[in-house]
Amino acid sequence: MKQMHNFNAGPCVLPREAVESAIEAIRNFDNTGIGLLEISHRTPGWERIMAETEQLWRELLNIPEEYEVLFLGGGASTQFFHVPANLLNKKAAYLQTGVWAKKAAKEAKFYGDVEIVASSEDKNYTYIPKNFTIPTDADYFHITTNNTIYGTEIRYDMDCPINLVADMSSDIMSRPVDVKKYALIYGGAQKNVGPAGVTFVIVRKDVLGKVERPLQTMVDYRTHIGTEAKNKSMFNTPPVFAIFVMHETLKWVKKMGGVEAMNKRNVEKATLLYNEIDRNSMFVGTAEKEDRSIMNVCFVMADKYKDKEADFMAYAKECGMVGIKGHRSVGGFRASIYNACPLESVQALVKCMQDFEAANK
Ligand SMILES: *Cc1c(COP(=O)(O)O)cnc(C)c1O
Repeated sequence: MKQMHNFNAGPCVLPREAVESAIEAIRNFDNTGIGLLEISHRTPGWERIMAETEQLWRELLNIPEEYEVLFLGGGASTQFFHVPANLLNKKAAYLQTGVWAKKAAKEAKFYGDVEIVASSEDKNYTYIPKNFTIPTDADYFHITTNNTIYGTEIRYDMDCPINLVADMSSDIMSRPVDVKKYALIYGGAQKNVGPAGVTFVIVRKDVLGKVERPLQTMVDYRTHIGTEAKNKSMFNTPPVFAIFVMHETLKWVKKMGGVEAMNKRNVEKATLLYNEIDRNSMFVGTAEKEDRSIMNVCFVMADKYKDKEADFMAYAKECGMVGIKGHRSVGGFRASIYNACPLESVQALVKCMQDFEAANK
């Protein structure tokens, strides 16, 4: 079989060893003779996986005691309304850096006033707005740290005078994060920490229980925190398969040297690819340089070569590139180079761009 290079935006490439141990666990979980998909989530072996997974999160991101780490269903899109349900009393502030951010703000409007502090919609979200003022009378300020579709990223932990909430779906575990600067961090696992099916929520306990509205049992984060450690994130049946693969993925992150090492690797991969985009006369990057994401690299054909787009796509496919078609709202190409994407894949893409230039310029 020809070697494939997986640049899918999500679900995306996983560490090979996480996939291999998932296959084994489906056959025989924890030497029980029974498969992972067929065990009770109340078995001690599973409770150990849950506890270890939380521990890995705490260790890798250095999550302080006063924060809870939850694994829920419903994807990041469900958090778009869980967050305001739990935290919004009167008003929330949102930074609109893409359609995910816009969708998050839309759901918050069911619960109160929403102030869009700044938006980059005027330039199709190709940059991160600067010099905005965060209203101090809002209950929280919501940001999307990595804009998966447009390839822009807020790659630092900002100072915020009110509770800071972040959708980190597509850059969690790609760099060290100062968790203390956030009241709540959430995201779907399928971009950088596992397969689809599990959503992570890291929440500082003291922000909960402050809203006046009654909450449905499943919407209230406190339900999932529970009163006993062994029941955490197990109020109802947890997505065991997705959590298991996340556990294996985080073990790999740890083995590779943790989030510092991931950051170094990711910067190296992104630099290599952006350098080629900037050097190669046939391509141009779509995001403002200073806001470029290290996770999703978006580029299009240069004006002069617009008619070559289909040719490059076909050539890239021939070279084993998978998932590089850009999102329909940006066009062109997008290479998602998450943690588990190997440097060799980025090198192969760069070579493919160079060879295409040599043959077509
Ligand atoms: C993919 C994505 C989402 C949506 O995640 P689901 O888990 O599919 O609901 C939300 N925010 C960002 C930044 C994303 O990349």
